[in-house]
Amino acid sequence: MERTLIRDLKGRKDGEEVTAYGWLQESRKLKSVSFLILRDHTGILQVTLKPENIGNMDELATLNRESVLAVRGQLKLNAGARSGVEILATEVKILNRAESPLPLGVIDPVEADFDTRLNNRFIDTRKPDKNLIFRVESSLLWGIRKYIMSQGFVEVHTPKIVAAATEGGADLFRVQYFEKNAFLNQSPQLYKEMLMSGGLNRVFEVGPAFRAEEHNTVRHLNEFTSIDIEMSFADHNDAMSMLENAVRSGIREVIEVNGAELREKGKELQLPEVPFPRITYRECITYLASKGIEAKFGEDFSPDHLREIGKMFKDFYFITEWPSSVRAFYTMPKPGDEEVTNSYDLQYGEKEITSGAQRVHDPEMLEKRFRQKGLDPSAFEFYIRAFRYGMPPHAGWGLGLERLLMILLDLPNIREATLFPRDRTRIVP
Ligand code: ATP
Ligand code: MN
Repeated sequence: MERTLIRDLKGRKDGEEVTAYGWLQESRKLKSVSFLILRDHTGILQVTLKPENIGNMDELATLNRESVLAVRGQLKLNAGARSGVEILATEVKILNRAESPLPLGVIDPVEADFDTRLNNRFIDTRKPDKNLIFRVESSLLWGIRKYIMSQGFVEVHTPKIVAAATEGGADLFRVQYFEKNAFLNQSPQLYKEMLMSGGLNRVFEVGPAFRAEEHNTVRHLNEFTSIDIEMSFADHNDAMSMLENAVRSGIREVIEVNGAELREKGKELQLPEVPFPRITYRECITYLASKGIEAKFGEDFSPDHLREIGKMFKDFYFITEWPSSVRAFYTMPKPGDEEVTNSYDLQYGEKEITSGAQRVHDPEMLEKRFRQKGLDPSAFEFYIRAFRYGMPPHAGWGLGLERLLMILLDLPNIREATLFPRDRTRIVP
């Protein structure tokens, strides 16, 4: 179909014959002319209808909002029109009629409640600001991918239906797998590690991760998109460097592709400087103590703790060397200081975006770590086997894409950064 996006009409010549497609946002009928406002994902356009040019004037004037139209006519680069350009229509085809009333308005000044919006997500994302969120997500992931691919990583796809829990935790969804019990995977961790033994050298995966976390918070989903990497012959410092550069590359892409539009909406993105600052877990405890806030070694920080720590940094920062007690069995203890590990979280204020670490590569140490965590290594035999016949040292991370998007755009709720969120009560649509 011949089509000019509304944004691109400005670049065409005055008087040129053009065709635009979109949704009918508004219509206004005057005595001898009618006006339509047509909207696509790039902007809005005024369409002028005159009876001498258009046969179906009356039908168009009473057509329900959000019906889908094809408009053909003469371009008028008329600065007076709301969109800066206008089409004097010679033909308007109704491609699809919308029913009335709409379950959700697109241009209503007062935003509907979130449940109504999510129940009608197909209309919600017609709103320019909501549409933009998902275009930003796409640019962000593309920028991250570009960096990761430039570093020799191979994109892989690991199973989401699995027999064993990645972290042996309780946060698992069960599925009936013919006559067996199975689970939806919480993370590709065990598989991407096996691929290090498998000689793929550097792998990454972008895929869903499932967590049956019962709590309903503004930063947790029950299904989220995880960007995971794992690299061979590398330690936690190598993986951190990969991470900060991948995040920076993602943000750079967003600035390039969506920066102007974001600026119009009052959001000015800054390219973060690398390397991101690093602070150890122990330094955090000391810092909190200096503020009169108690934090116990060996426990996770609370959101309040993290908010206080986050005040020290402009944007992204790493907390490194987490205690063994709060990290999974596969995390490498720090040589010479085994109470802590070669691990890190990437943080932005109180929000965690990524967890990563150097991993244990010695099978005996791995089995010992399983037992320390109260897990039975025999349930993980398929995984431990990959360590017995030549596993290289390796490191990696897992980054929550919706978390990063939420932080970047200052969204109040992670569900805003998810097209069809899955939470404690929602599985439809
Ligand atoms: P949190 O402490 O925030 O619940 P976590 O430490 O349990 O996260 P990890 O297992 O470290 O999460 O997962 C790696 C990354 O995946 C997190 O840093 C986060 O960005 C993202 N993530 C984890 N759980 C969720 C979730 N329920 N919803 C959305 N993103 C998540
Ligand atoms: Mn984590």
